[in-house]
Amino acid sequence: MSTESFITFYMLLPLVAIFVYYFYSERRRIYFLQPLEKEKVFRCTQCGMVYTDDSEVELSPCPKCGSPNEKIKF
Ligand SMILES: [Zn+2]
Repeated sequence: MSTESFITFYMLLPLVAIFVYYFYSERRRIYFLQPLEKEKVFRCTQCGMVYTDDSEVELSPCPKCGSPNEKIKF
């Protein structure tokens, strides 16, 4: 192995490592955050319970008392 290719190899190695780390952390972020983004937070107006449900649902029944509730807007 010549000196030039040796230097090139050791300069590319950290770049490849950063790319691989970025790729895996981005994949992990998507894997963990996607279910959270699909869920919306609801607070029951009757009993005050806070729970989550699908974001597509406009009115979600409370799991405790069954009263329909609108999603909380932050
Ligand atoms: Zn309730």
